[in-house]
Order: sequence, then structure tokens, then C-alpha cells
Amino acid sequence: MKRDWGLSIWGSDNFKIVDDDIVVINGCEPTLLNITKEIREKGYKGPILLRFPHLIKKQIELLFSEFTRASKEFNYSGSFNAVFPLKVNQFPNFINELVDISNEYNYGLEAGSKAELIIAMAKTNIGAPITVNGFKDKEMIALCFIAAKSGHNITVTIEGLNELETILEVNREFNSNYQDNIAPKIGMRIRMHSSGIGAWAKSGGYSSKFGLTSTELLEAYDMLEKEGLIDLFSMIHFHIGSQMEEISPLKKALREAGNIYADLKRRGASGLRAINIGGGLAVEYSQNKKSDSRNYSIKEFSNDVIFLMQEISKNKGVQEPDIYTESGRFIAASHSVLIAPVLELFSQEYHEKSLRLKSKNPPLIEELYDLYKSINRNSAREYLHDAIDHLDSLLTLFDLGYIDLEDRSNTEILVNLIIKKAIVLLAKEGSDELERLQSKIQEKYLVNFSIFQSLPDFWGLAQKFPIMPISHLSDEPTQAASIWDITCDSDGEIGFDSSSPLKLHDIDVEKEEYFLAFFLTGAYQEVLGMKHNLFTHPTEAVIKFDENGEYIIDSILEAQNLMDILDDLDYDIGAIDKKLKSNIAESNLIDDKQKEALLGKLYLYLSENSYLKTIQAIST
Ligand SMILES: *Cc1c(COP(=O)(O)O)cnc(C)c1O
Repeated sequence: MKRDWGLSIWGSDNFKIVDDDIVVINGCEPTLLNITKEIREKGYKGPILLRFPHLIKKQIELLFSEFTRASKEFNYSGSFNAVFPLKVNQFPNFINELVDISNEYNYGLEAGSKAELIIAMAKTNIGAPITVNGFKDKEMIALCFIAAKSGHNITVTIEGLNELETILEVNREFNSNYQDNIAPKIGMRIRMHSSGIGAWAKSGGYSSKFGLTSTELLEAYDMLEKEGLIDLFSMIHFHIGSQMEEISPLKKALREAGNIYADLKRRGASGLRAINIGGGLAVEYSQNKKSDSRNYSIKEFSNDVIFLMQEISKNKGVQEPDIYTESGRFIAASHSVLIAPVLELFSQEYHEKSLRLKSKNPPLIEELYDLYKSINRNSAREYLHDAIDHLDSLLTLFDLGYIDLEDRSNTEILVNLIIKKAIVLLAKEGSDELERLQSKIQEKYLVNFSIFQSLPDFWGLAQKFPIMPISHLSDEPTQAASIWDITCDSDGEIGFDSSSPLKLHDIDVEKEEYFLAFFLTGAYQEVLGMKHNLFTHPTEAVIKFDENGEYIIDSILEAQNLMDILDDLDYDIGAIDKKLKSNIAESNLIDDKQKEALLGKLYLYLSENSYLKTIQAIST
């Protein structure tokens, strides 16, 4: 089978390989390489985050169309509604596109903090739902009242009884002098007996940080009734955790929540109309069939939700609830692709011309040299083993003081040259020897990006993201690869994993650019990204398609420049500027002309972002 970097597993028909290239399956089907080159020609270097709004649209359409289909099939009477949870991606270039696209679906936003609530209030189309979760203080609840009075269809989900008390208090303040009595609707998050599985399961279950116990639910009900506000109570909410890998915990949770809904309804909750099933729809990140991470489809998911809600409502004789979802990862993950240039292949430091062989070399080095010169197809396997053994022995000899630095340098060069030759010889032969030795002979690719900034979940949760080159795709890659980022932190490495091997090409990056693409980075990674070493959010661009299918590069936003980065840390950049300038002005080492030239250079560099320039960029 032809190598496809797992595209058939994680790709969802969003991209395909055509000859050497990976192309976007939309419009004129541009290659990622051409889009990247065009942006770089405008002068943007370093990593580039590409956003594809058509992929946001695709996911929203998929979610709505599957639930609409299931509702029709089951003849379900409740409506289907969805909101996007802002915590998954709050960046304006993403949210503006999402809001544009979602107009026709009445798709809303979910907020979990005051700042997110402000985004929701400013961006949600009037009439589309806003849901508010998480811990809230009086100010946040007051903001919800302001949203309701401005015409928003807003539901505040309470996580505890004290929040309900605050709502009642704010309601008295906001509504005592008015006739209209406009207030946000109230949802109650339930503390589930059942919980999700996987890395994020803590959001659900008895030990969860969130939600009301059944005792508290009943108390909340009584409090609302006493205050004459029971009609505001309109939604039951749960969220069993992100990246739900199996469907069974969801089914359990649906039964639990459905029965709570029905019982409260029978108790007299006349305004109660909806069940909000939270998020958790998983994304397939696997590049390797053996570890597919999701055991259900969106079709099965929507069928289960509709079927179970209908069954419970029928059994208990209550109206079928409206369904709300808050899926975030499922909507956002696929829309962005990070493209990062490879700066260096470490073994390419080793050239035959750098050898410093002596007239008399240690015997093992003489032997290495012979291996290097005489290696051929038949001997490749054996010589590769010998070379790796000799490396160990020679490094030990160096530690013990028996060979010198020149000998050590010769050792490293020769072993790397032998490995390279052997890989070429063995790759043709199709032997499994390379597979077995991969962890020993891997190539290290230095890539111009920060794992901490752009793939924080890899660092924090060992979450894998699909990685592949965007050129040379019809050539068989020969190098078992590990990826190093440009931070000064040894955690900034995606090591070679023999259970899900990443193979890349042997490219001379001084002659030719080679880019890696990191896919499915659109959910959570951006705002969780850390400015470790002060590498900031990469340059981003929105890629749209016009009526003719031609792509348009829109809304380019360059990574922050050096002074803005320091400004963000609250440095007094005026003082820094002055200090740098006066250091040059007062230097008595150089004359005025040199001072001027130096200052010009300094200002040029201050206006640039902190990522590295590629070798090509330096030479032009
Ligand atoms: C995080 C969160 C979501 C989104 O979960 P996804 O796994 O991204 O779909 C939805 N609802 C609530 C309450 C959340 O906290």
C-alpha cells in the first residue's frame, strides 16, 4: 500500500495526496505547498497557521444535518440546537468566520468566563442561543441579565445552590422596578453518577468539580418555586468530558439525565424544555490504524441521543425535550493546519569532507572507515550493526581518555555516513531490519516552531497530532524521524514512536525548503499555547474560496514582534527602547556613522517576530 501518513484515518476527506503534493479538497484544490509559498513570498517567515473556514462550515453542517436526519427518522418532536463552547477557540479569526457561517443554523456560543461572555454577547446573532457555564460571581450573573435584556436568548447554567441564590438576588435588583421582568433562562448542571472515560473524564462523574447532586436539584427547584420563578428553569445540562472515545458512557449519562428531566417535568417544571448534552464528540487524531481513538460515528451518536430521549419521554409520559449540544473539539479541530519549515536535519552536519583522519588512527576507526568505503547491498545489514556497536565502544574509549576529540569527531561522522548509506541500501531491499533499528538510527528534524506554543496538549497530555510533509509525497520517505522544536527545552521534542512511526524524507534543506504540516490543531491548542522562551502565537492566515473556486489568502495576522512580546509581559518598552538607543549612542568604541547603521539594524530586528528565519531567508 502507498504511504498516506494515515490520511485515510484522520483526514475526513478534507485533504488528499496528488503526486508529490497534499491538496485541499475544495474549490480549485490548491496544494498546501503553494498556499504556504504564496504567504512566504509576502515576507512572512517562521511557522504559519492556516485556517480553512470551509472546514468549520463542514462540521457545523454535519452536526446539524445528522441530528435533523435522526429527528426525522424517529419522528422526534423536540428541536435540535447547538452552541460553540468558546473555551475551545476564542481567536477572532476563527470566531468571526464561525459566526458568519452559522447564521443560517441559529448556531450560538457558550461562555465559561466573563471575558468569554462578552465575546458571546457581542458576536452571537440575536435569537441564537447563548449558554453560560462554569463558576460565576454576581457580576457575571449581572452580565447575563444585561444580555437577556438586550434581547439575547441566554441560559445560565447553575453549578451550585449559591449561584442560584445570587441569581435570585440579581433578579430582584434588575427587575424590581420594571414591568417586563426579563431574565436569563436557568439551566441546572447535574452531577452525574456516570462519567466519561479517557484523559478528560474528570468533567463528569460524582467526583466532578461541577454540578448539583439530586438533593441540591430538588432544593433548587423549591427555591425557584418559592420565588415564583420556576418558569425560568428551562434546561438540564451535563458534560461528560472531552474526546469521548466510546459511546457507552454517553448512553448511560443520557439515561440518567433523561430521567432527571422527566421527573422534574412531572414535578411541575413547566418551563423545562431542554436537555443540554454538553460536548465530548471525539476527533480521530490517529495516524495509525492500530490505535483509532473513536469507536462511534456522528450518525450513531445522534441516533442514540434522539432514541434515548424519546424512549424516556414516552415511558414517563412527558414532552420530548429540545436537544442542545456544546461540541467544540468536533467543530474546531480540523479547521487549522500548522505549517512549519524544517531548519535542519541533524545528520547533515556530517560530511565526509569534515573528517580529520590521522596518519595513524585507532583500529576501530580504521575499521569504521573500511566499513564506510566498502558497504554494499549484501553487507549493509551487518555493517550497520557493526557501526552502531563501534560507536558505543568508541564513545566509551573517549570517556576513559583513550581517544581524543578528533577521533571522536571522526567516529560520529563515519557512523552517520554508514547509517545513511545503509538506509538507502536497505530501503530498496524492503528489509525489516530498518524497522527494528529505527529508534537507534532516527534522524532529528529541527523545526521552526514551538511545541509549547502550538501543540501544548502534546506536551501536557501526550496527545498526538497527525504530522506529514507537504512535498515529495510520491517519494518513499526513508528516515525514521523525531522532531525538535526551537525552544531551549528538552521537552520540546516529538520523539520517534515505533508504534506509530513517522517517516520523513532525506532533504538537503540548504538547497530546498521542506515543510511539515501539523493537522487538527484547531481545538484548544491556540489559547492553551504557552509563550515558553517567548515564542508567541504563529503568523496566521484565513484561506477562503471565491465563487470560481480560486483560493484567497485573507486576514493575515503576523506573529507579535519582539517589542510587543515584551510589552505583553508589562515591560516598560519605552524605557527598553531608550536604554538600547543610549547604549549605542554612548558607546565610545564606534564612530557616529557606525552608530547610525547599528541603530537602523536594531530597529529592523525589533520589528520582527521571534521565530527563526530559514537559511534561504538569511541569504536573500
Ligand atoms: C469544554 C466543554 C465543552 C466542549 O467539549 P468538547 O469536548 O470540546 O466538545 C462543552 N461543554 C462544556 C460545559 C465544557 O466545559
